[in-house]
Amino acid sequence: MKRLLLILFPALILLSSCHAPLTENELALGTICAITSYDKKDDGLIAPAFELIHSKEKLFDFYSEDSELGRVNSSAHISPVKVSEELYELIKLSYEIALASNEAFSPVLGPLVELWGIGTEDAHVPSDEEIEEALRLCNIEDLVLCDEDRTVFFRKEGMKIDLGAIAKGHVTNEVVSFLKENGVERSIVNLGGNLYLIGEKKKGECWTVGLQNPGADYGGYYATVDVRDSAVVTSGEYERYLELEDGTRYHHILDSRTGYPAKSDLKSASIISSDSALADALATACFVLGQEKAEALVKEYGVDAVFLTTSDQIVRVEGS
Ligand code: AMP
Ligand code: MG
Repeated sequence: MKRLLLILFPALILLSSCHAPLTENELALGTICAITSYDKKDDGLIAPAFELIHSKEKLFDFYSEDSELGRVNSSAHISPVKVSEELYELIKLSYEIALASNEAFSPVLGPLVELWGIGTEDAHVPSDEEIEEALRLCNIEDLVLCDEDRTVFFRKEGMKIDLGAIAKGHVTNEVVSFLKENGVERSIVNLGGNLYLIGEKKKGECWTVGLQNPGADYGGYYATVDVRDSAVVTSGEYERYLELEDGTRYHHILDSRTGYPAKSDLKSASIISSDSALADALATACFVLGQEKAEALVKEYGVDAVFLTTSDQIVRVEGS
């Protein structure tokens, strides 16, 4: 199955950028990634930062049998598979968020994601029988993790882990750490809408980020958030979808209860946190959960959020 690149509708638009920034773009992780440098001394760090991003594709690529995740997916039903610390930690965090969100976010929806194929050349609407069959392979309790041995085991053959809703956030964290360790005090890292604003826009001045209005053209925003040294991550139905000839749309965020694209009272969910992986996973979970449960979840995790409801209400939640 081939993955199509997501090049339309990055979730966020930056407002009020500063003088003479240098932005480099590359295709990676199935999307467009951009890094912006604001200081000449930092320009040389952009290339190694992209190398870092590409190296992570070898860990998390769901569509490659050669990635570390691909090897887990092809053999973890036979016997426990020992994995790298980095992959283990991300699967473990995903497992915990799945439990906390009642599986609104779940790392074991691989069979369902593959079946729908949204964002790939094979995207189609599956039959109810196919969905039922895939759902039997998508239960979090069938994922067995062993901290001591750092192994992953599937209780059922056919199970697959897909980290598409958290991996970009994790890689963003890694890039931000790399840049900061090398002395960067101000930069923007944008991995397909997983945005991290390092430092401040100017001394004493925060960054202003526009949140994409799902119903508007690219660049039309429905609200702004002011942040310092923080991730801003959005999940929305407009990001990636299959559109039939009659205009019916099926988006890429799936509901583990129904097997269909999630339908809640939210059109878009943005999370603001210093941890981009957490923000990524929670944005997906909130979108699926809907306003009331999403508010409780962000408060439990102590992060801030902005939601756009289906009746176009803007809801700001201060959980931090
Ligand atoms: P995001 O854009 O961060 O909300 O992540 C969506 C991507 O994560 C999809 O393209 C799928 O690969 C995967 N996915 C879809 N639905 C879910 C879900 N409910 N929980 C976790 N991952 C999901
Ligand atoms: Mg996500």
